[in-house]
Amino acid sequence: MFDLSGKTALVTGANTGLGQGMALALAQAGADIALIGRSEPTETLAKIAKIGVKSHSILTDLSSADGVADIVAEAASELGRADILVNNAGIIKRNEAIDFTPGEWDAVMDVNLRTLFFLSQAFARHLVAEKKSGKIINIASMLTFQGGIRVPSYTASKSAVGGLTKALANEWAGHGINVNAIAPGYFATNNTAALQADEKRNAEILGRIPSGRWGKPSDMGGAIVFLASAASDYVQGITLPVDGGWLSR
Ligand code: NAP
Repeated sequence: MFDLSGKTALVTGANTGLGQGMALALAQAGADIALIGRSEPTETLAKIAKIGVKSHSILTDLSSADGVADIVAEAASELGRADILVNNAGIIKRNEAIDFTPGEWDAVMDVNLRTLFFLSQAFARHLVAEKKSGKIINIASMLTFQGGIRVPSYTASKSAVGGLTKALANEWAGHGINVNAIAPGYFATNNTAALQADEKRNAEILGRIPSGRWGKPSDMGGAIVFLASAASDYVQGITLPVDGGWLSR
C-alpha cells in the first residue's frame, strides 16, 4: 500500500531541508525522483543514487511560473512518467507589518503560492491528458492555522495554501488526483535559522512542543509517503500537521 516502485515524484526545493528529507523518503519507498530547484542538489542526488532509484535534476528559478509546463514535460520524458508532485520550495521574509515592502510581499507570494498553483495546474493538465491518476502534496505551515508575527506575506501565502489544497481537491478528485498538504511544525532547517539562533524564541518554541525537540527533515518521511501512495487514495483536501504536537497545545 505504501510502495512507490514504478512511480516518479517531482519535488521542488530538494537540495536541502525538508525537500531533501521528503525526496529521500520517497526514494526509499521506491519512487524515481525529479529534483526541481535553483541550486545544484549535489548532496541529494548522491544520497538517492545510494538508495538505487533513478533521479534527474531540473535547475530553474521558481520565483517565476514561466516554464512550469516544460518542467513537468522534462521530468516525464527523462524518468518515463510523472505521478507525484511535492510543492515544497518556499521562502520567508521577516519584517514588521508596518514596514513591510511590496518587494517582500511579492517575493514570498510568488514562490510560495503563485508558482505552487501554476506548477500544480501544469502537472494536473499532464495527468488529465494522459488519463492517469496522481498525487499533489503541498507544503503548508503552522501559519496555515495561526497568524504568526513579523511574517505577514508568509502567513498569507501558507494560509492560502491550505485553502487552495481544498479547492484543487474539489476540482481534481474526479480525475483521480489527490491534493493534500502537510503542515510542518518547527523544523531545524535554513528557513528557521534566525529562530534557532534567537535564544529567547528558541526556548519559547521548545517549551511549547510536546515532543520536546525541533523536527528533523526525516520526520516528514512517513507523512509524505502516506500522501504520495495508494494508502491515501480516499484522502482529499487535508492539511496534515507534522508538528510534535505544537497545535495540540
Ligand atoms: P530551506 O532549507 O530554506 O529550503 C527551501 C527550499 O526552497 C530550498 O531548496 C530553496 O533553494 C528552495 N527555493 C526557495 N526559493 C526558490 C526559488 N525561487 N526557486 C527555486 N527554489 C527555491 O527551508 P525548509 O525549512 O526546508 O522549507 C521547505 C518548505 O517547508 C517551505 O515551503 C517552508 O515554508 C516549509 N516549512 C518549513 C518549516 C520549518 O520549520 N523549517 C515549517 C513550516 C513550513 P535554495 O537552497 O537555493 O535557497
